[in-house]
Amino acid sequence: MSTTLERDLDLRRGFTTDASGLDLLPDALARPVTTAEVVDVLRAAAADRLAVTAAGGQTSTTGAGITDQGVLLSLRGCDRVLDLDPVARTMRCEAGVIVLEAKRHAAEQGLLLPLDPTSEPDATVGGAVACNASGARSLAWGVTRDWVRGIAVALASGEVLHLRRPGLEKNTVGYRPVQDLVDWFVGSEGTLGVVLEVEFTLLPLPSRVVGLAVPFDRAADALGFVVAARQSGEVSPRCLEYLDAAAVAIAREAQHDPHWADGAEGLVYLEQATAGEDPPLDAWLALAEAHAARTADIRVYESEAEQREAKRLRHHVPAKLYEFSGPLRAAGGRRISTDWAVPYPRLAEALAHSRQLCDAAGIERGVTFGHAGNGHPHQNFLGHDAAEVSRIEGVVAEQLRWVVAHGGTVAAEHGIGKLKRKFAHLQLSPTQVALMRAVKRELDPEGRLAPGNLF
Ligand SMILES: Cc1cc2nc3c(=O)[nH]c(=O)nc-3n(C[C@H](O)[C@H](O)[C@H](O)COP(=O)(O)OP(=O)(O)OC[C@H]3O[C@@H](n4cnc5c(N)ncnc54)[C@H](O)[C@@H]3O)c2cc1C
Repeated sequence: MSTTLERDLDLRRGFTTDASGLDLLPDALARPVTTAEVVDVLRAAAADRLAVTAAGGQTSTTGAGITDQGVLLSLRGCDRVLDLDPVARTMRCEAGVIVLEAKRHAAEQGLLLPLDPTSEPDATVGGAVACNASGARSLAWGVTRDWVRGIAVALASGEVLHLRRPGLEKNTVGYRPVQDLVDWFVGSEGTLGVVLEVEFTLLPLPSRVVGLAVPFDRAADALGFVVAARQSGEVSPRCLEYLDAAAVAIAREAQHDPHWADGAEGLVYLEQATAGEDPPLDAWLALAEAHAARTADIRVYESEAEQREAKRLRHHVPAKLYEFSGPLRAAGGRRISTDWAVPYPRLAEALAHSRQLCDAAGIERGVTFGHAGNGHPHQNFLGHDAAEVSRIEGVVAEQLRWVVAHGGTVAAEHGIGKLKRKFAHLQLSPTQVALMRAVKRELDPEGRLAPGNLF
């Protein structure tokens, strides 16, 4: 085998954490730098019947990319953009390319890679594919799955499959889920195969984008504005991000020249892209006024640099909350972050339900921010000790039951990993779980890939 397994404790310790708050020490580490070496690692692990968990940037919030069973296979060294065809608008990357780097590479050719996890400076394209990552601009662009044309994936045995979308406009052969095998691997959280390479479809870069930060005195008005913006024929947002008062306060800390209004109970950050024509600012202003926004405090972001700054502020919220997690561990506490989503018109009702549950259980209401346009907030709670963690988890479980009963999902973008396994059954029927297990058995009969994720 050309890539040896590393067992040095200090080296392994560098790969034990992600954004979940869990700390899992792998038995061995593999850091291949070519896809052929990845295959070697898998073949050697198969011979020794070792478990293998693939990892990219290790930014998972669910402990999906860390393990204490067998080999942690880091794909970060496989970081080459293999080719970009500006005419066909496609790009092929190895799995360890950082999402932001891949996007920059496409942008140099005037093209857009429409993946948008907030963690893009650290997450890899392989991780984004494995988690079917999405983000703020998924409102307009859709999720990672939509942009994957094909993948090269290595199975637990080391066998490599080169899979492409069939591209058929009509097809009646076989059950729908098996007609396109690419879809099995997208979102499979490392449990079915190790993604080696990905071919993406690209879009032209929009020629003009404007961003607006719209503050409100009442959170309900901010959420009403989001629903109206989605339903309006006058505007077409590519993102509609909501921040509650606590999230605005965190974002304000990161501002050199504070421009997100002080004391807002809710703020919506939105962007609209156009093919060159002026963005409909008057329509946005009218909509904001109709929903009692603090119009004098609306901030407009016209240049790319200004929009990057707005994105930095928005990203500061989860990054800061992530920082809070570390010190909680000593006393058995941790950060609990939710990833549920409901049909967007029900978001205000869902958040009100969550507040009621928090108040009844005597826990703090947490920090809420995220993709309101998709009915998809992130709520973050800080559990200072094991007892508080358990109370928060009880409230979260109750909320998830409500969410599923109202047409929502328990995990809209961060996947199930290890931390949210206990919630999957709220959404998946026994038949669905049995079908998933059957596929897992077929592709990974010994159950050696990413043990503990999903199942
Ligand atoms: C601050 C912050 C913000 C975030 N924002 C978003 C967001 O906006 N949207 C979003 O969707 N997620 C978000 N996340 C979660 C996370 O960043 C994404 O899920 C991301 O796609 C994970 O990529 P990664 O390279 O870090 O994967 P890792 O964390 O290393 O792994 C995640 C999963 O992917 C599997 N995996 C990784 N690489 C491969 C591979 N080559 N082949 C097979 N399986 C593989 C792992 O086994 C694991 O199951 C955020 C996380 C943080 C910390």
